[in-house]
Amino acid sequence: MDVQERTTSATDALALRAERDLFVSFAFAAADLLVRVGSDGVISYCVGASRRMFGADADELLGRRLFSLVAPNDRRLLQLALANVTPGGRLGFFDIRLLRTDGEEVSAGISGLRDARTDMLYLALSLLNHANSGRAIENRDVKTGLHRLSGFQTLASNRLRIVRELGGETNLTLLEVTGLDDLAQALGPTASDALLGDLGAYLRQHSIGGNAAGQIGPDRLGLLHQPSVDPDEIAQGLKALAAGVGGGAVELDITRRTMALDPGNLSDADGDRAVSFAIKLFAEKGARDFLVGSVEDSLKLMLADAVGRIGQFRRTLAGKAFRMVFQPIVALRDRSLHHWEALARFPEGGSPFETIRFAEGMDLVDEFDLAVIDLVLENLEDSANHGERHRVAVNLSARTIASDVFIAALDEILAQHGTVRGQILFEVTESSQIADLEKAARVLEHLRTGGHEICLDDFGAGTSSFPYLQALPIDYVKIDGGYVRKIASDTRQRAIARGMVRLCDDMGITTIAEMIENEDQATALEELGVKLGQGWLFGRPVERMRG
Ligand code: C2E
Ligand code: MG
Ligand code: MG
Repeated sequence: MDVQERTTSATDALALRAERDLFVSFAFAAADLLVRVGSDGVISYCVGASRRMFGADADELLGRRLFSLVAPNDRRLLQLALANVTPGGRLGFFDIRLLRTDGEEVSAGISGLRDARTDMLYLALSLLNHANSGRAIENRDVKTGLHRLSGFQTLASNRLRIVRELGGETNLTLLEVTGLDDLAQALGPTASDALLGDLGAYLRQHSIGGNAAGQIGPDRLGLLHQPSVDPDEIAQGLKALAAGVGGGAVELDITRRTMALDPGNLSDADGDRAVSFAIKLFAEKGARDFLVGSVEDSLKLMLADAVGRIGQFRRTLAGKAFRMVFQPIVALRDRSLHHWEALARFPEGGSPFETIRFAEGMDLVDEFDLAVIDLVLENLEDSANHGERHRVAVNLSARTIASDVFIAALDEILAQHGTVRGQILFEVTESSQIADLEKAARVLEHLRTGGHEICLDDFGAGTSSFPYLQALPIDYVKIDGGYVRKIASDTRQRAIARGMVRLCDDMGITTIAEMIENEDQATALEELGVKLGQGWLFGRPVERMRG
């Protein structure tokens, strides 16, 4: 070898090393750990952040089986995924839970390649944000490893945004699986848990990113998938899995609905709502309930229906195409007027109950509550111009008071009507449950500082009423109409109501009873010590306050 040749090969070697370094850099840009696994499933090469990911040095991982580093619930998922990777083929990126040497589970992304010649697997692992990973694990169903309802709703909404921003197509398939319970019974707990794990793994494997599948009800599943994935084949696959495990003892019956996740002209926020609504409806009602008439597009129709209702509600709000009526609340002792309750009425007439629950479900109720307050304040100013002064209770949804944006807007509206704002008190309807009691307490205290009394509505109707009493600063409690209806006839209901009244008395809270329709009820309530009453006996809701 002459000098010239030696220099050339040295240069080649240098160039090669530079190139290799470049590839390694690229690999680590996408992953935290690179792992090679032989056809025996044993790790034969490992480099990268093994300590951070597994709590062990790379050397210690050599010779270990790959599956021993995967969380038990996700082993089946990985097994199914790997079985599909042909020599020379790729393992597309998906989420998986890993098992650290200290026994803790962490979420990671995995992708890879099966070498055509040697059949070795080259895997790239990357840790997913730790904060997210904890939440992801928490929100999964333990047995199927699938997202629960709310997680799946979020996933679908996020996907809709991605479709809007980046294009591409995604389908949402919802499945109602009957027979799962019977099968679980027939199999016994261990085998049935294994089957649920398999079903979950199978669904995830066919979903986008390997993680976009959910268990949205005991016998209801959902997944987001590429249009190229045939949902009927998915259903067949699930049936086959069950038949395999159950020995054909019980057959699964699967009904599915598939729709394109197409954002159309919806804003991000409305798209989120509409998708969440569709999924929730399926979770609650199942496939059969919207099979009315059209079949394939029923989900789409339902989505259109939700969207239509949102649009209509928005228009109602914008044009304030609803009005307020007012019902008197009187002192039970002498029937003198104490204050009024403002109740909304929509153009279609009847009780606003359904519409308001819908608004709560769609996260539109804060806008509604603001519009109501605005209307009531205008009404009070109008009355003031006629020399009248009324005190009015306005209903606020528990959801609303959790929103900082709402509270800021409320402060502004109240400030704009400084002369009459002191006449307003707030009734917190607990139907949609307060999630964060401490925060609600702060908000209510803020309103009280502004000169408004607070009433807790429908007390006793929910299960969490008593913690509310303890945690929230309130002036009045309105005993739910359900107790009032039976008060004169049912001794048990009377006993419960008596307990509530005593408790409130001890806490310095004034009690109100609602839906009093006859004298017997009024007498019974007064005997229990209830101070104020509302109901048809004293007056139905009216257009104009008087007196
Ligand atoms: P709520 O706040 O508990 O209101 C009391 C309901 O009982 C009203 O129904 C009222 O019309 C009805 N009622 C009053 N007296 C009697 C009676 O003697 N017998 C019977 N059977 N019913 C009586 P409405 O107006 O249909 O409202 C239903 C619910 O809708 C309200 O329950 C409240 O949760 C919600 N709501 C009504 N207006 C508003 C509003 O402006 N904002 C919010 N956030 N919610 C509202
Ligand atoms: Mg009320
Ligand atoms: Mg009520």
